[in-house]
Amino acid sequence: MNIPFSTFTPMHNEIKADMQACFERVYDKSWFIDGEECCQFEKEFAEYCETEYCVGCGNGLEGLYLLLRAFDIGEGDEVIVPSNTFIATALAISYTGATPVFVEPELKTYNINPDEIEKVITKQTKAIIAVHLYGQCADMDPILGIAKKYDLKVIEDAAQSHGATYKGKKAGSLGHAAAFSFYPGKNLGCLGDGGCITTNDPEIAGKARAIGNYGSDQKYHHIYKGINSRLDELQAGFLRIKLQELDRWTKERQRISQRYLNEIKNSKITLPSVDDKNIHVWHIFPILIEKREDFKNYLQENGIRTVIHYPLAIHLQEAYEDLGYKKGAYPIAEKIARRELSLPLYYGMEEDEIDYVIEMINRF
Ligand SMILES: *Cc1c(COP(=O)(O)O)cnc(C)c1O
Repeated sequence: MNIPFSTFTPMHNEIKADMQACFERVYDKSWFIDGEECCQFEKEFAEYCETEYCVGCGNGLEGLYLLLRAFDIGEGDEVIVPSNTFIATALAISYTGATPVFVEPELKTYNINPDEIEKVITKQTKAIIAVHLYGQCADMDPILGIAKKYDLKVIEDAAQSHGATYKGKKAGSLGHAAAFSFYPGKNLGCLGDGGCITTNDPEIAGKARAIGNYGSDQKYHHIYKGINSRLDELQAGFLRIKLQELDRWTKERQRISQRYLNEIKNSKITLPSVDDKNIHVWHIFPILIEKREDFKNYLQENGIRTVIHYPLAIHLQEAYEDLGYKKGAYPIAEKIARRELSLPLYYGMEEDEIDYVIEMINRF
């Protein structure tokens, strides 16, 4: 058998006619930026996330950047981020001139450990970016409690968690504002780059929109040194179609993940755990294994593809050499980087494919 790590084909086959009709609609209308599709998508996605506002933007990284700018975060400020996340979370902070300050995750959920946050708060700390990693929300209540105590903003990085919930509330509605990515491989992805921010704060929504549109509140009138980061009509139209299917596609990811949780029985493997407060949307099914290289090669020899998320912690990346961290500075993030492996997981995975993956894993 040949099992890819992920594939779009079963999803995209289901909606091909609608996607083609969307292309024709936008093409014939000849209106490509800041039009009806984006406006409608923003309404629909805000409703999906149970927030007042959604503002489309160029990608997830820029969504985070726009929010940090909207909260007036910049040079001299510090922003707290988990030490285990995709590098974009930290890069958005660096773009503003502020400094990312890392906090270790909980090994169980892979998300930021709220108990470790207060230790790194200084006079310069302005915000916490809570990443809902791999499809599961961070433990938001204690994070919001700390933020309130120190007057900090809480920004959700919801790039991996479209539709996830915490205590019944949607990712994207839990902090002061949130950023989403619609990179094709995310649970809700367009056919290129795309992103958005969500918030209940009209001022932040307006500022983020203006900063993403050359800092302009009205045409040729610029109140911020903005950038160009917008969600175009084609991508917004494609996303509207995929948003209607998202929950059904997510249920299938949840069903497959539940089979993995129930049926993978191998003492060498640590399975992911779901906090009782959360509904997990399984962007990724992350396991931990000590002999990762052997295991990955074994699976590959048997036709099963896996991916590592992520092989090198951010504080050890060359790009962040300037922060001066040494190996061992964030042992939990480093341990995850050494041991994490993501199993195949995609809508349309066939029963015999799931059976085969489980069987091969149990045999290792
Ligand atoms: C993908 C991702 C981003 C960045 O999104 P892009 O659209 O690729 O810029 C940010 N944070 C996390 C956690 C991500 O997974």
